[in-house]
Amino acid sequence: MGIVVQKFGGSSVADAERIISVTRRVIAEKDKGNWVVVVVSAMGKTTDNLLALASQITDRPDPREIDMLISTGEQISISLLAIAIQSMGYPAISFTGPQIGILTDQIHRKAKIVHINDEKIKQALEEGKVVIVAGFQGCTLENEITTLGRGGSDTTAVALAAVLGADVCDIYTDVDGVYTTDPRIVKNARKLDRISYDEMLELASQGAKVLYSRAVEFAKKYNVPVHVRSSFNDNPGTMVVKEEKDMEDIVVSGVAYNRDEAKISILGVPDRPGIAAEIFGSLGDANIVVDMIIQNVAEKELNDISFTVGKDDFNEALNVAKQECKRLKARDVVYDTEIAKVSVVGVGMKSHCSVAAKMFRALAKNNINIEMISTSEIKISCIINGKDVDKAVQAIHDEFELEGAK
Ligand code: ASP
Ligand code: MG
Repeated sequence: MGIVVQKFGGSSVADAERIISVTRRVIAEKDKGNWVVVVVSAMGKTTDNLLALASQITDRPDPREIDMLISTGEQISISLLAIAIQSMGYPAISFTGPQIGILTDQIHRKAKIVHINDEKIKQALEEGKVVIVAGFQGCTLENEITTLGRGGSDTTAVALAAVLGADVCDIYTDVDGVYTTDPRIVKNARKLDRISYDEMLELASQGAKVLYSRAVEFAKKYNVPVHVRSSFNDNPGTMVVKEEKDMEDIVVSGVAYNRDEAKISILGVPDRPGIAAEIFGSLGDANIVVDMIIQNVAEKELNDISFTVGKDDFNEALNVAKQECKRLKARDVVYDTEIAKVSVVGVGMKSHCSVAAKMFRALAKNNINIEMISTSEIKISCIINGKDVDKAVQAIHDEFELEGAK
């Protein structure tokens, strides 16, 4: 008997009608004789709306209470889906994350899954039920409700697929698959038939929102084949799989962008050993994930240190930076929340040169200034002014000739 995990995002369960169409896909899989586990996100923009409510009250709500609040979104969609499946004459049961024992660490709002108890799910599957699990949530050993970070339902789905040894994890979403870049910006973006875990990981962490990076990390670690596909049609989507030999022939697979970061600079920091360790140590202690870092020598014995963080962490990071500035007797802290990051990703970069030069040329031709650069084996990212992002993505996509056949 095959095991299939299906995940439906918020837009696929946005209203009763959509929930009923999800039911059809679940039943089709069940009718093939498979065990089916379904993971759902909150309906439509529920999570955003709940967060907006809290922010009408204060800008620094307690993370524990935020988890209590936003974990309710998924509880609505799982129960409605169970009701819908049952109304079609199929046995189904819904569970919250804590109910089935999705154990996480204690970091509210971005908890990591540490263990999943598959007993309850397996038992329900053996009883012939479709099992519906709330995405995005879990609980700590102390029974505190946690959430896994925005988009965390993907992570729940892939983690469940891993522990259950599922044949595939189908991620149903509102796009047809993974594209060379965002088709809303670049009209001739092309859908990829397959992509390696590492490339997907980079695309996801560089801002391609189709699949979240934590989910891809899980998929890679446990070798779960992930199929990203549309919930609105039956077209094959994109398979995210282990790297295969011929993948290196393609230098660049995709262009990603991210408007969700902000840049903070601490100016006039004393140039002595240990300073960076202290600043980034304090940011780490505040659970802030820093992305890019650059240090320039400003004047004699003084440096400027700039870094980027997710906009979610910006207020907190700015506070830490101001404290560090004071403590280190640095000159000032400045910031820019209107930045964007553009990245090119491809496993072929390992064996091809001049990829960076080609990317910089595309930006130069369009008079786009580069503020920060970072590279890895399969990725090059540049921070640019946020207003230039659409132009930059199009230019880079053209430069690498990634467009689909016309
Ligand atoms: N509902 C959560 C969010 O909007 C989790 C998810 O959609 O995957 O971030
Ligand atoms: Mg969502």
